[in-house]
Amino acid sequence: MQMQRNLNQLLLGSDPKLRRMLRYWGATGLFYLVGIAVLLQQVDGGTPRAHWANLVVWFCAIGVLSFFVLVRFSVQFRIAPWQLAVAQGVFAIACEIGAYAVTGPIRGASLVILQVVIVFCIFSLRPRATMALCAATIGMLGATMHAMVSYDPVAYPANIEWQHFALSAASLVAVTVLTGEMSKLRAHLKRQKEELVAAVGTIRTLATIDELTSLANRRYMNEVLHAEERRQGCTGQRICIALLDIDFFKRINDSYGHDGGDAVLRTFAAAARTDLRAGDVLARWGGEEFLLMLPDTDLREAKKILARMAERVGAIRVTDLDVELRVTFSGGVVERRDCEPFADTITRADKAMYEAKMGGRDMVIAA
Ligand code: GH3
Ligand code: MG
Ligand code: MG
Repeated sequence: MQMQRNLNQLLLGSDPKLRRMLRYWGATGLFYLVGIAVLLQQVDGGTPRAHWANLVVWFCAIGVLSFFVLVRFSVQFRIAPWQLAVAQGVFAIACEIGAYAVTGPIRGASLVILQVVIVFCIFSLRPRATMALCAATIGMLGATMHAMVSYDPVAYPANIEWQHFALSAASLVAVTVLTGEMSKLRAHLKRQKEELVAAVGTIRTLATIDELTSLANRRYMNEVLHAEERRQGCTGQRICIALLDIDFFKRINDSYGHDGGDAVLRTFAAAARTDLRAGDVLARWGGEEFLLMLPDTDLREAKKILARMAERVGAIRVTDLDVELRVTFSGGVVERRDCEPFADTITRADKAMYEAKMGGRDMVIAA
């Protein structure tokens, strides 16, 4: 079992991209096998060009196996995928043209393989490179056919070769143009997908973040609380909830205008979130009201955290507005009871906050 795993690792590696490239290699390998089988049948049938056919068979077989090694160790050899694709494309075309020259009367049918090679290239070559490959193919094909006609005009009548050449060249150009269009379409779809991913990111941000304070918004906080409720259930884990409300905020608005109030809200949010831990979530719950979730925290720790927060908020100076302005908040903090729905925990925190307001503000009441 272990040996098979090691062999698999050696032959296929572990990178999914590499494995996909090797699968492509496997698919082309099957294609070569069919071609080789047809050639060997020609040899068996006593073709006068058996020697050449055998040579082409060996050339194809050794080349295909070498490509396995090149693909498998392309990273180690520092060969880029496009370089491999060009090399494989040129090799496949050379094999096909070689096979064409030795195949005998059915050689015309084998020319269709050239188009298959060009279509294969769509996955790894840019349209311009595919066009160059197409031009090189037409050149090689023309030169080979010319040589065949010169070498043995009886076996290779010029008019037949010319017709083969014209049909192949025309269909190669057509396939190259079409695959080029498909490449452009693929690139366009890829770009669209990237834009969509970016747009979804923006929408997610808009849906979860409060625009003014950059804190979590109420909708996101509700999601977090639901998730936490599902996760915790009745496991008795400690978690505290605090509701905070800026004191006399209406006065701030009245004195400095709505924009001044907004500036205070931003400054308050930045100060309040400063000392929070990674798992804590502070959200803007409403106008100048904030909800704080403190996981894995008991009431004693929560009180300490809020005292630190009150100190930070007390030190706020909104320099653009009025250096004399002092911002305070009143808060209610409670620890969630085992199995208690968060809605009830929040109601208790709200009552505690109301007590803090009644008690003269600028304080946190723990219930
Ligand atoms: P208390 O100490 O009792 O909390 O007094 P308060 O004045 O803070 O209480 P109240 O809830 O009556 O006033 C809150 C004010 O906050 C009223 C509303 O106009 C203002 N407000 C709500 N949202 C915003 C906002 O986004 N920007 C600004 N600038 N003001 C807001
Ligand atoms: Mg309020
Ligand atoms: Mg208020």
